[in-house]
Parts: sequence; structure tokens; C-alpha cells
Amino acid sequence: KIRTRIAPSPTGDPHVGTAYIALFNTVFAKSQGGEFILRIEDTDQARSTPESEQAILDSLKWLGLNWDEGPDVGGPHGPYRQSDRKEIYQQYTQQLIDNDHAFHCFCSAERLDEVREQQRANGEDIGYDGHCMSLTAEEVQQRLAAGEQSVVRMKVPEEGTCVIKDVLRGDVEIDWKQIDMQVLMKSDGLPTYHLASVVDDHLMEISHILRGEEWISSTPKQIALYQYFGWEPPVYVHLPLLRNADKSKLSKRKNPTSVTYYRELGILPEALVNFLGMMGWTMPNGEEIFTLEDMTQAFDVNRISLGGPVFDLEKLSWLNGKYLREMHTPEQLLQRLVDWKFNKEFATQLMPLAQTRAETLGDIAGLLSFFFQGNPPITAESFAGVKLEEDDLKRALQLVLWKLETQRHWEKDNIFADIKAVADHTGIKFRDLNAPIFIAITGSTASVSVMDAMAILGPDMTRGRLRHALT
Ligand code: ATP
Ligand code: GLU
Repeated sequence: KIRTRIAPSPTGDPHVGTAYIALFNTVFAKSQGGEFILRIEDTDQARSTPESEQAILDSLKWLGLNWDEGPDVGGPHGPYRQSDRKEIYQQYTQQLIDNDHAFHCFCSAERLDEVREQQRANGEDIGYDGHCMSLTAEEVQQRLAAGEQSVVRMKVPEEGTCVIKDVLRGDVEIDWKQIDMQVLMKSDGLPTYHLASVVDDHLMEISHILRGEEWISSTPKQIALYQYFGWEPPVYVHLPLLRNADKSKLSKRKNPTSVTYYRELGILPEALVNFLGMMGWTMPNGEEIFTLEDMTQAFDVNRISLGGPVFDLEKLSWLNGKYLREMHTPEQLLQRLVDWKFNKEFATQLMPLAQTRAETLGDIAGLLSFFFQGNPPITAESFAGVKLEEDDLKRALQLVLWKLETQRHWEKDNIFADIKAVADHTGIKFRDLNAPIFIAITGSTASVSVMDAMAILGPDMTRGRLRHALT
């Protein structure tokens, strides 16, 4: 049975890269009559949040990329959230220790730093030096009994090469010497990604792993684990990563990467799916406009091209325009607008902002129009009235953007505090800093309260507009 999965870590915005990988996994599974599973990899407790998990689920659903098993719908191989599977990982880690494939490591952070320094000085990069491998079973038991902190590391073959069989790349060879003795279990009793994903992929009966090529270098560790457990490894398909126009890896500094951003901008989900389907894939008939269903019908994994697919915003806009113009009646289009933002729920949030400033209903529409538009048109003249030199202005806006990028709780008071912090740090008067932010967000010098506007616009649109104003 063909079974694929997407295994996002809920540590941030729902990434378009996650949607792209999910698309290829679901299309591949469905084209083969198989199943597609969603698993949440939240073993990094410091960075994982329930909000991020929810946003990932929501955005994949919005795109129509549905899963057969997952944390919300359940299934026969659950639980589907790794933080709910701790005992399973502990049991399998113990099995590796018992069979001498893994060992307890008591090295302190200081010692590991020293080893790293030493290696750097010698121009080497061999990773962990195996210090704790020589401990006897009795020593280990004593130290554990005494309550000493430890992690569990995997053993790695000392010689030879690991051959990764990749459907798109053929045999990829990596010397075992380059592979570090990876920590599998942290001192807090939680597994790392490598152990958890191998155990889960096996127990969830995943047959094919389609994931970004950034994971190739991790694959030898995972193949070693399959061998240690005596399990059959899955078939690997490492997909090309999405690229910025300059061919570097898609990054939010150069391109908005959150699915939510595109949704807020008024991109249609079917257009975004079509666009993501064009990343490394073309229809056999050369047709550029296709649905999820069309792609599934025609899908052949061997036709994926490895040239770095560019996430080209102009192409996405062009495609979206085609959907709007050619695939909707006026009535249908109106319904899309209503579903998007032209509805009572959204308008209700906006009314208090405009009410105190309007003399006619038309004024209200004018005051609020920026909530519905893409990035406001910004030119050098837009900032003409601002009391800051151009360099200071850019620096200040950049600092505000950085500050807001790390804001996890998007509320007016927190946004205010972030901007205030930048004002204090730079010595710029709050009012003088607020003015250009106002312009970046609303496109005009006089409008409704910008803090309220940012709170309603949400993190993706706010950051997107600040970024746009900076370019
Ligand atoms: P950024 O550098 O913009 O912060 P990132 O790599 O840190 O991006 P993550 O939050 O680590 O982003 O990634 C979230 C998910 O998106 C991961 O599953 C990752 O594989 C996927 N992803 C990130 N960048 C790309 C890309 N360029 N192409 C395909 N998938 C990607
Ligand atoms: N949790 C990993 C991620 O965030 C999964 C990688 C994999 O697919 O093995 O992308």
C-alpha cells in the first residue's frame, strides 16, 4: 500500500514550502490509490506552539490538501502528534541501547564545546568524538542511578559509504565518516527529529518519503536507524527546494513565505495549488492551468525536474488573474469576495476605526480601503513628509520589522510595545517613528489608527507591507 506523509514542525507560519511538499505527497499517494497522512513533529518544545499547528492545518485545508489520517481526524496509527508519543520513543531508544547501537553520553556542554574548538583548530569537522562509548555498562548504571544528566547518541559505522537510493537522483553516496553520532534522546526524555521520524514513519507504515532536498544529508542517520531496528527503509524522493528569483533558497527576507499572506492578499487557493504544482512539475500536455484533480490524474513522479523551481510572484499573480477572469461568472466572483473579506464579520472589526473620522459613508470606504488592497503603492515621495533621513528611516523600519517578526502574540499592546522599544533603542521620537510605519501600512499619511490596523491586518500582511516599503 502506498502511504505518504507530511510532517511539519509547528514552529512558525504555515510555510508555502510545506504546502508544496504536501501537494506532491498527496498527489503521489492519490495517483497510486494510496493514503496521505499528516503528522505533527513538535518535539522541539521550546519552539512549537499550538497556534502554529492550527495555522498549518488551516492553511492546508484551505488549499484543499486533505489528509486521511492526522491529529484532528485520527486514524489507526495514532497518536499523530509526536509529543503524545513519548513512551514509544523511549521504548525504541532502549531497544537500540540494549542492542549496542546507541549509548548514553554524559558529556557536558563545556566538554563538547572544547572538542568542537579543538577540531576547528585542526581544520576538522568530525562531530562527537565518541568519548562516552568506552564507558562500561556498570559505570553507566552508576552514573544514571546517581541522577547524572545524559543524552542517548546513535552509533555510526566507522567505514564505508551510505548509499541513498533516491527516485529522482539515483544512488547518492555519503561517507559514514561525515556522519555525526547524532543525539537521539535528549536529557529531557524527548526524542530528536531523527529518531522520532524513523520510528513514526515505520509504525505509520509510510512507504514513500517525498520531502525537501535539504534533508538528504540527514538520510544516512535515518538509514542506519532502519538497519539497527531491522526495518525496511521507505523509498526516498527528495524534491527540489523552492527558490527566490536569485536562485537562493526561498526565504522570508526576499519573499513572503507564509500561506496566510497569500490568502490575505486575495490569491485563490486553487490558483496557489496550481502554481505550487508548477514547481518542478509540468503537465504531460504542457497545459499550465490545471486542478489538483488534473495533476493527480496525470502524475508521474519521474517527471519531476530537479532544476531549482523559482517561486515567481509575477507568475502567481498572472495565474490568479486568469482564474478570476476566466473561471468565474460575476456572481461567482462576488461570492469569492464575500468569502474572502467583503463580509459582515470582517467589516464589524473595522467599523470602530473609521466611525469617528467619517462624514459620509463614502469616507468610510475610503478610510478602510487599504485593508482590502495588496501592498500600498510606495515610492520615495511617499515618505517626503517624514522627519527622518533616508538611511535612518530604512534602519528604523528594518528594526521594527525584525522586532515584529519575533512577536508571537499578535495583539495591539504588544505591537505598540515593540515599536516603542525600537523608538527607545534608536532615540527616535515615537511620533517620528510611527509616521513612516503609518505610510508603509496604509499607504497614506492620514488614516485610521495604525496600531489597530496592524492588529487586524495580522502579522503576515503587516510584515509584508513593511518589507515592501523597504524595497
Ligand atoms: P526561512 O529561512 O525563511 O526562515 P526556514 O527554512 O527556516 O525558512 P522553516 O520554518 O524551517 O523555514 O521551514 C518550514 C517548512 O517549510 C519545513 O518543512 C521546510 O522543509 C519547508 N521549507 C522551507 N523552505 C523551503 C523551500 N525553500 N522549499 C521547500 N520547502 C521549504
Ligand atoms: N519535521 C520535518 C520538517 O519540518 C520533517 C522532515 C521530513 O520530512 O522528514 O520538515
